Amino acid sequence: MRRKLVVGNWKMNGSLASNASLLSGIVAGYDGSGAEAAVCPPAPYLAQCQQALQGSAVSWGAQDVSRHLSGAFTGEISATMLKDFGCRWVILGHCERRGNHGESNQLVADKTVAALNAGLTPIVCVGESLAQREAGQTDAHCSAQLGAVLDALEPEQLEHIVVAYEPIWAIGTGVTATPEMAQAVHARLRMQLKEKHAQHGAQVRILYGGSMKPDNAAELMAQPDIDGGLIGGASLKAPDFLAIIAAGA
Ligand code: 13P
Repeated sequence: MRRKLVVGNWKMNGSLASNASLLSGIVAGYDGSGAEAAVCPPAPYLAQCQQALQGSAVSWGAQDVSRHLSGAFTGEISATMLKDFGCRWVILGHCERRGNHGESNQLVADKTVAALNAGLTPIVCVGESLAQREAGQTDAHCSAQLGAVLDALEPEQLEHIVVAYEPIWAIGTGVTATPEMAQAVHARLRMQLKEKHAQHGAQVRILYGGSMKPDNAAELMAQPDIDGGLIGGASLKAPDFLAIIAAGA
């Protein structure tokens, strides 16, 4: 039985003041029922999240991590630093990192290993562009992205990862994949995970991301292999985020 997981990816949004009211709204409205809930703020606000969320049912994580442990890597943040601030999760290989920062499948795999070694749970993102979908390359593309990560892991480590399917054309556009379209990709990712380790592969949570909102969340999460959501825009408003969490009950 996979409990649903709803993760807010705040991306590069927020301020001390706006985060304070968003976090208190989420804590006040979440009693731990419905889906499991987490937020991933920009790194400078991790300490604020730790303070606001410690002792609550909401966990927190980061949006990226370095593949390196420590040293001369200006601007980077290590997995142990994220652990220092109580992070449980780290989003890896988001299409905005792959697209805007040239992150390769190998780099995402290296970051996954670094995160696991530090005791973080990586949320590994995969997803195709509109051109790739129209060219019939969705499966090949997503399976290559996931495959590079799986190649870097021991089969037992599958127990400690989360996968997120985020079709690029659905991110921030208001266009959502239909539940059937998303489920078809999730089912194939599930098969690939099970090929690596039958039992753990069946337990990995596969989140959907891309314009998930209160009005489509329940329908998406009703699909057999959609185990929650990675939420951008709608995670910045407490009532919307809470409604999506409730839809994962
Ligand atoms: P939106 O929910 O704003 O489409 O963003 C999805 C996303 O990229 C989450 O990581």
